[in-house]
Amino acid sequence: MNKIPYGRQSITQDDIDAVVNVLQSDWLTQGPNIKSFEDAFANYVDAKYAVAVSNGTAALHLNAIALGVKPGDKVITTPITFVASANCVRYCGGEVIFADIDPETYLLDINKVRELLEKDRDHEIKGIIPVNFAGRVVDMEAFRALADEFNCWIIEDACHSPGGSFTSSVDEKVMSGSGKYADLSIFSFHPVKHIAAGEGGMVTTNDETLYKEILNLRTHGIQQDASKKIENHGIWYYEMQELGYNYRLTDFQSALGLSQLKRADKGLGKRRELAVRYEKAFDGKTYIKRQSGVVPGHAYHLYVVEVEDRPGLYTHLRENNIFAQIHYIPCHLMPYYKQFGWKEGDLPHAESYYKQCISLPMFPTLTDNEQDFVIKKIDEFYN
Ligand SMILES: *Cc1c(COP(=O)(O)O)cnc(C)c1O
Repeated sequence: MNKIPYGRQSITQDDIDAVVNVLQSDWLTQGPNIKSFEDAFANYVDAKYAVAVSNGTAALHLNAIALGVKPGDKVITTPITFVASANCVRYCGGEVIFADIDPETYLLDINKVRELLEKDRDHEIKGIIPVNFAGRVVDMEAFRALADEFNCWIIEDACHSPGGSFTSSVDEKVMSGSGKYADLSIFSFHPVKHIAAGEGGMVTTNDETLYKEILNLRTHGIQQDASKKIENHGIWYYEMQELGYNYRLTDFQSALGLSQLKRADKGLGKRRELAVRYEKAFDGKTYIKRQSGVVPGHAYHLYVVEVEDRPGLYTHLRENNIFAQIHYIPCHLMPYYKQFGWKEGDLPHAESYYKQCISLPMFPTLTDNEQDFVIKKIDEFYN
C-alpha cells in the first residue's frame, strides 16, 4: 500500500490551466481574480461580503484589529484548535482565556464560556472565538445569544468547515461563515484545508462597516472608498488613514482557489461518504470513541476519534505507511501560553482528549480500498 497521509490536496488540470492563464495575463496581483474569488466564496457560504487575504492567520489578525482588541482586553477561545485562533488576540496585546471543550463534541463548551462571562464583573472579556473543530459547526445561534447578553463580539474560526452548516432552533440550515450570527468568520486555503490556494485566507461577514474596514486594513490602511478620502490631490492620490498591513492574496492564488471552489461541494460529499464508512466500520467497537457519530452539516476537515493506547496505535499505523496525525496539542500547554500561568490540569477535558485523540485519513481522493486498509490495520491492532 502507498503512503496514506491524514489529508492531501488535489490539483486537477483545470486548476493548473486557471493558474497559467493568470500568469500569462497582466495581473499577478491586485487584479480581477481576487474579486471573482471573493464573490464566489461569499455566495458559497451564504454571506454578503468576503475579503480574500494572504492566509487564515492574517484573516484572524485583521478581524482582531477591526473589532478593536487592545491591551487589557480578554478574549475566550478553545484550547483544541490550531494556535493561530488564539494568537490573533496576542498580536493586538489582548489576553487569551482558554475555556474547556465539551467532551462529546470536542467544541468550545458554551457553559464554560457562560461561567467565565458571569464572573467578569468589569467587562474585560470583549469577544469569543469559537472554532468549528474538525468541521463540526458550532451552534452559533446559541453563542450569539450569549455574546449579546454580555456585549461581546464573535469571530467564527471556520477554517475546518467551508460548506458546513448547523441547524438553528427554527430548523433552518445556517451555513458556516454566513455571518448570520458571527460578526466575522475566517477561512484558510492552506493545502491541508478543503480548498487549496497554496496559502490564502478569507474573511466573510454581513456587516458592511467591518467589511470596509478589513478591505482598508488588508492594504496598509489606505482608504479604498474614494468618497471617504479627506483630501484629494488628483487621480493619483491615495490616502493612508490608519495603520494596516499588506495581507493581500495574489491573483494566481485566487484563480487556484476559485477553480478549487468549483468542486468544493463534490469534495465535501466525498468526505461525508468516507465519514459514514468509518462510522459503520467502528460501530460497536469499544476501543474507539467518535465525535458523536454522523452529524448533519459536519464538513469533516478531519475525522477525529479517541482511542485506548493512542501512542501504540499511532506507531502501528505509521509502520503500515498510514500517517495519522494528532489534532491538537492543547494551546494552553504550549510553552508560549504557559508563561501566562496556564498549566496542566487547568482544562481537564481538553487534556484528556489530547491523550487519546487521533485524526484518521480523510480527504476526497482517499479510495475505498485505502480506507478499508486503514480500518483493517486499526482492527488488527486491537485484536
Ligand atoms: C489552518 C488554520 C488556521 C490558520 O490558517 P493559515 O492559513 O494556516 O494561516 C487557523 N485556525 C484553524 C482552526 C486552522 O485550522
